[in-house]
Amino acid sequence: MRKKLIAGNWKMYKTAAEAVAFAEEFSAVVNAAKPEPDIAICAPFTDLAALIPAFGGSAVSVGAQNVHFEKEGAFTGEISPGMLAEAGVDYCIVGHSERRQYFAETDEGVNLKAKALFEVGIIPIVCVGEVLAEREAGREKDVVGKQLRDGLAGIAGQDFEKLVIAYEPVWAIGTGRTATSGQAEEMCAYIRSVVKEMAGQDVADRVRIQYGGSVNAENAAEILGQPDIDGALVGGASLSPDKFITICKA
Ligand code: 13P
Repeated sequence: MRKKLIAGNWKMYKTAAEAVAFAEEFSAVVNAAKPEPDIAICAPFTDLAALIPAFGGSAVSVGAQNVHFEKEGAFTGEISPGMLAEAGVDYCIVGHSERRQYFAETDEGVNLKAKALFEVGIIPIVCVGEVLAEREAGREKDVVGKQLRDGLAGIAGQDFEKLVIAYEPVWAIGTGRTATSGQAEEMCAYIRSVVKEMAGQDVADRVRIQYGGSVNAENAAEILGQPDIDGALVGGASLSPDKFITICKA
């Protein structure tokens, strides 16, 4: 039985002081509500040192939103897997569509980053998803299948089953236009079938597949009720403790 993971992706929002204020408010509601799923917040790098101790007494994990794949080196502006591990990070988003679109992230880069994260014990949340023109052309499965086969190539089975895959159709991100629960389920089931092809039935049964794209307090329960959807990657609605706890309890 797969445990759901509800992860917030704060993107480039919240200073360290704002992050700590969120953690204080959210820890209190999480401790009172004791929601069943695993919960994580993926925050900007500059928040991590303050946010991790601020969540200390609660069941909330902290993640990062990007990483470099090298251990160290002359890569101005980058952060290594070891730096994140020392900070106490449990998860790291890789291959988000905004990084693919604005920062030229490729499936090859995703692959190197995912492997480098496993080496230091951080769980990658690997994002895949098609843009609107690809969906309108009926190519969403081809696009996502290629992202998976290239992005996850050569990851060993014992790592693969710990992986989190987030299906985020780009046309549903920040647009208020959520995929229907049927569309989301169809793609998450397809992703599981590709994982089965790549790593076998046991890994496919264990790997967690999230949906992301305009998830909110109103639509979360229906999306999370689908059999192949094991959680959500939440952007805008994760910035408010009230909205985010409602999704965690959905
Ligand atoms: P929104 O929930 O704001 O649509 O963002 C989704 C997302 O990109 C999460 O990674």
